[in-house]
Amino acid sequence: MEWTPSLVTQLPKVELHCHLAGTLRPTTLAELAGKYGLQLPRAVEELYVYRDFYDFLEVLRLIALVLREHEDFERVAYEAIEDAFTTSNVRHLEMSFNPQYFIPSGASYATQMKGLVAGIEAAEYDFPVSALLLAALDREWDPASASEMMDLIVAHRHERVVGIGLDGPERAGPPARFESAYRRATQAGLKKTAHVCEDNQTLAEAPPSHLDACLDLLQCDRLDHGYNLMASKASIQRAKDSGIYFAVCGVTSVAANRSRRLAAIERMAAAGLNTTLNTDDPAMFHTDMAHTYNHVLEGLGWGWREAKQFSLAGVEACWLDPQAKAELRNDFQRQIAKLEVQRT
Ligand SMILES: [Zn+2]
Repeated sequence: MEWTPSLVTQLPKVELHCHLAGTLRPTTLAELAGKYGLQLPRAVEELYVYRDFYDFLEVLRLIALVLREHEDFERVAYEAIEDAFTTSNVRHLEMSFNPQYFIPSGASYATQMKGLVAGIEAAEYDFPVSALLLAALDREWDPASASEMMDLIVAHRHERVVGIGLDGPERAGPPARFESAYRRATQAGLKKTAHVCEDNQTLAEAPPSHLDACLDLLQCDRLDHGYNLMASKASIQRAKDSGIYFAVCGVTSVAANRSRRLAAIERMAAAGLNTTLNTDDPAMFHTDMAHTYNHVLEGLGWGWREAKQFSLAGVEACWLDPQAKAELRNDFQRQIAKLEVQRT
């Protein structure tokens, strides 16, 4: 069947790799900065236009400063889900947040959770979506802070926090460094993912061997990115044999890296790896799930068959309980069949 961008936009989708801080509408960031008397570095229309990496970091720092009260977290979680549903027909999201970014400006973990859960519940009431949370560790922080985060998660255990993640530049913290935090997550019954083999790192900084550490030491249930794996036949085979899902992202912040990213996604699929398509930082990267799907399909000359595969792979890779997952799968199949009938 022929596909069109509008058909792909209507396709039901699951978002498994998006960072809460990367979802803030620029207008929301500007309003929250105003609330706390903070200056914007640039005009609101240019907030997410970066001359270099430092501009990008400046915005991230500002986001960490403006999420303080539970109402701030509630608003941001709600808007992230609203945007994902209204732009792209996203029906389930697993959103990661780094609790430790917000503690220095006064938002305790309990405050963050109160707001995030309220935002998710309000969005679930208003839209036909579900959402879960992943608490993420920044690998630039030391393992002691990772264990502090695990203390917080366990002390404030909430069913919405279904798993943990690990992000930040791999050269700063190889996966093995976080083995003990991940062991505690396993003991607490949490799912585990980690950013691994990212293409903004060299092969020496993010080598394919990090896959072994993620599977053997961290016992990950899913992985984020994975592009550098393609440099090693043995790692590709191991990833394939494990059946693990990779939450890849179709759009990168660095325009020069976009075609390389697409080529890696194509190779991962051709090698038979399980992949799902995601946005990473939708607002900050000027994308959304529909745009990301269309960007990848157009860039790789793929069609409706691949679009459907990504849609349904998102369901299989998500961390809903088995019954909710079965319902989501049925709903996606119904929606897809309806789109195909309309089209023919
Ligand atoms: Zn990411």
